[in-house]
Amino acid sequence: MKAAHGRLISEEGLRHDGRRPDEHRPVKMEVGVLSNADGSAMVEFGRTKVLAAVYGPREPPQRFMLLPDRAILRVRYHMAPFSTSDRKSPAPSRREVELSKVIREALEPVVISELYPRTAIDVFVEVLQADGGTRTAGVTAASLALADAGIPMRALVAGVAVGKVDGVLVLDVDEVEDSAGEADLPVAGAPDLGLITLLQLNGVLSEEEFEQALDMAWRAIEDLVRQEKEVLRRKYQGVSRA
Ligand code: ADP
Repeated sequence: MKAAHGRLISEEGLRHDGRRPDEHRPVKMEVGVLSNADGSAMVEFGRTKVLAAVYGPREPPQRFMLLPDRAILRVRYHMAPFSTSDRKSPAPSRREVELSKVIREALEPVVISELYPRTAIDVFVEVLQADGGTRTAGVTAASLALADAGIPMRALVAGVAVGKVDGVLVLDVDEVEDSAGEADLPVAGAPDLGLITLLQLNGVLSEEEFEQALDMAWRAIEDLVRQEKEVLRRKYQGVSRA
């Protein structure tokens, strides 16, 4: 549905794609999608599609990087050159380097790395199709792929971005809303630990808007983690529980 007067929120209060402000895009999650990897997952938030592959714990070629008391977590976030309609250079961009670090920091608190000293756990996050929210879909896919690889974790993590468009807080911003909106707040965390592991803010929110946006994100993250558990349960127990 088209937004009224070219704005991003219609007169009926709906978004440019017909969603309500607090509505997530359709979510799809699948684990074990790559047989070569130790663990893998595909996550879709609407048109955003992200694949995560995990290898390890293993001994990497550069042994000088290893830590005596725990495994190191290495994360590579990459956008496939075909993932956007604009041409995206295949060379690693500063944004990809930043997002690799952001995603690593979002996962590190939940991985029980002390169990595997002198090893590396490698996480590859590959964006196949980008339409906003790739870092949060990436964290969600990586969490599933780590669990699928059997890496011991304190809890699962998931992420979502809340934005502000036409003065309205909206859940799970897509690319149109991200580029035209007034603010973008990507959040990731582990509800089972009550822990936020990623929080960034691009743009400006009042204190009250920030609190509301965080609440909105947190509810969505709780729901995403419930879905992660369901997908993992289905694969490993062959049963589905409501
Ligand atoms: P996120 O994907 O986590 O929302 P950004 O806010 O940096 O991260 O990007 C928003 C969206 O802008 C991306 O999901 C993607 O759709 C688009 N985008 C980002 N970088 C590029 C790029 N180099 N070329 C084309 N589109 C891009």
